[in-house]
Amino acid sequence: MTAPFALARAAYADVPLYDPKRVPTPTDLSDNTNLWGLPPQAERTLRELPWQKVTRYPSLYAAELKRALAARAGVTPDMVVTGCGSDDVLDSAMRAFGDPGMTVAYSDPTFAMVPIFSLMNALTAIGVPARPDQSPDVDALIATGARMVYLCAPNNPTGTMVPRADLERLLRDFPGIVLVDEAYIEFAGTSHVDLLARHERLLLVRTLSKAYGCAGLRVGYALGQPAIVAEVEKSRGPYKVNAVAEAVALAAVAQDAVWVDAHVSLAVENRARLEQALRDMGLAPLPSSANFSCVPVPDCVAVGQAMRARGVAVRPFPALPHVGDCLRISVGPWEQVQKAVDALHAVLAERGPLQHTATMRIPGRA
Ligand SMILES: *Cc1c(COP(=O)(O)O)cnc(C)c1O
Repeated sequence: MTAPFALARAAYADVPLYDPKRVPTPTDLSDNTNLWGLPPQAERTLRELPWQKVTRYPSLYAAELKRALAARAGVTPDMVVTGCGSDDVLDSAMRAFGDPGMTVAYSDPTFAMVPIFSLMNALTAIGVPARPDQSPDVDALIATGARMVYLCAPNNPTGTMVPRADLERLLRDFPGIVLVDEAYIEFAGTSHVDLLARHERLLLVRTLSKAYGCAGLRVGYALGQPAIVAEVEKSRGPYKVNAVAEAVALAAVAQDAVWVDAHVSLAVENRARLEQALRDMGLAPLPSSANFSCVPVPDCVAVGQAMRARGVAVRPFPALPHVGDCLRISVGPWEQVQKAVDALHAVLAERGPLQHTATMRIPGRA
């Protein structure tokens, strides 16, 4: 980083620019986007969009999109707030509920942006180690005395779901705001949306970047009771979903449900196939409820680089708590997943059996 600017806020000395180290690679399974592409009605809407959409301002708070999202989620439109990606919704929520100096607690490991958004809002982020099965340590989260707790369900990068009982206990015993990031909820076959009726401090944050295939549009949203949603909307401000994004996202949500659901099912099928292929290689992927698999592989950074040299990008996560080095492999069309399986197989074979079976060597054998 360059030397801090003298007039910057003090907290910004520690704010890094986000760099997931993506390199253009023929087969890119590194960012969990929808590798089947854009849903058909969204694609048609984008192609046929009148230029007038671009010369005038978009709607203030994306009212039409909120109605469509509400209908899809089974809530009322005043329970929805949109944003420029769910990143923006999370950032706005932190700003809305955290006075500078307050604390955000999160279960660690999780989404790398959470401590960064905290810093950006002059909040103190406290990572609370997850339990060995990757479920959140609810007592330790409460003990931080934080204003807000962030949980990711299913969790990025582990793919594990937050157990219902843990979330219910947190909502019962923790007095602050509970942010649950549901970026991958479509792939989990379940949701915590029914809890909204009973819990006014719960915000479920979602995105069109994953199952809906619209990451480049930057559209995210959150669901909550009207009072909490209204505060996030104030913090977010007007015009945050641009006109092109709103029109295309509206088509995806209102008209492409069948396509989206079908491709979510395919992703779930291919996830099971990928997990089996990894197990056949002697690896032990974590149980995943998302559109990716997190698999412990020693020396993951070097293995990831060697896979990239073979034309396949996956995301290495070195030294994850309780897991160690692992690779996160996105699920898409099977031809692409097969390429990742083949590349990983070849790289592990090259590196020799001792290294790739180090975490699961059978006792008594060298
Ligand atoms: C991908 C992802 C998001 C999506 O962010 P957008 O800003 O909506 O693209 C949010 N949270 C998690 C955990 C993610 O992995």
